[in-house]
Amino acid sequence: MEASLSRLKSLVVLATLSLLGGCLDAAPEEAVTEAGEQVPYSFRLPDGRHASGVGVRRGDTILVDGDVVIPADAPRGQVTQLANAAHNLWPSQVIPYEFDPAVDAVTRQKVLSATGPWTQAGFSFQPRTSESSYVRIRTAYYSNQQWVCGATIGLQPPNVENAYYAGTACRTRDYVHEWGHIIGLFHEHCRNDRDQYVITSQCSTVGAAGYEIGPYDFDSIMHYDAYGRSNGNIDYSNVIIQPRDGRSLDSFGFNDAPSPGDLEAVQAMYTIPTRPLAPVGVSTNWDGCYGRNRVSWTSASSNVQYFEAQKRPNGSSPWTSAYSGAATSFIINVTATTRLQVRACNWVGCSAYSEAPVATYYNLCPVP
Ligand SMILES: [Zn+2]
Repeated sequence: MEASLSRLKSLVVLATLSLLGGCLDAAPEEAVTEAGEQVPYSFRLPDGRHASGVGVRRGDTILVDGDVVIPADAPRGQVTQLANAAHNLWPSQVIPYEFDPAVDAVTRQKVLSATGPWTQAGFSFQPRTSESSYVRIRTAYYSNQQWVCGATIGLQPPNVENAYYAGTACRTRDYVHEWGHIIGLFHEHCRNDRDQYVITSQCSTVGAAGYEIGPYDFDSIMHYDAYGRSNGNIDYSNVIIQPRDGRSLDSFGFNDAPSPGDLEAVQAMYTIPTRPLAPVGVSTNWDGCYGRNRVSWTSASSNVQYFEAQKRPNGSSPWTSAYSGAATSFIINVTATTRLQVRACNWVGCSAYSEAPVATYYNLCPVP
């Protein structure tokens, strides 16, 4: 188990719409004011799970969860891409970009400045020369009486545009946030396990919102702040993300840089290509009075995020969970001879199980 991996944060997750994370511009550059057609979407994650939801049509694209862009020309069933290890990543962490001629000089400077924090995680951003896959940087959406930044998630399939929408009134954090989407991150507050940490209705994607890496991270640049927006202004009376731990509503969603967890997550995404190998040397040792046993093993991979163990009585009963965690041993108390098996997992998937020697029960205590 790599200590650094156990601290990884989440990558992933879709975003929610409304008025968040967006760029707010008091002076619309063009009059696009229609409410927007509601459009169902779905996509397939690299592990085969499916996710679906309803977005808003904006020109040639569908806008989901606030600022996530799904190109309307994407192949059906593959309308957006989730980046995870080995899937939908930018080769060699090089991201070519090209500005649409309509993007003004001030916005260009802000967009490029926002790449800086991500270079810490090994990315380089270069003007496009002849690359077929590159990020097209366009002027922002006008949506719900404000300009909204947006981006596609992860490297898109061939012939589908990697789109970054920017405007002069986007906040510094918005520009950094959109690059996070381009790299492959979804919204932290829409993680699959979000309900343990926040109360929010901002996440429209149903089924699977990506993969989690590391603990839930309120400091993530991919976490929206607590408030909705109204006519381009923050609306402090409209709380859209309520933390369950009672922390201040003003304590998250306003930082301008990726958190340490964000950087660790993308580094892990781009350096860990596969699911881990099965644990080796699984052993079971009587460890005290009666049925106390210590089960221990050695990791065979450096890319393990956690281990899972199952147990069942010696016989044909179904396996049930016995352990889940980052340590390479655990104590189990059994009341009869018990079979055990252990596997290694990361967000790509899990290894096969390695079977352990049985855990035994003796109705006596160790001789001193
Ligand atoms: Zn976003």
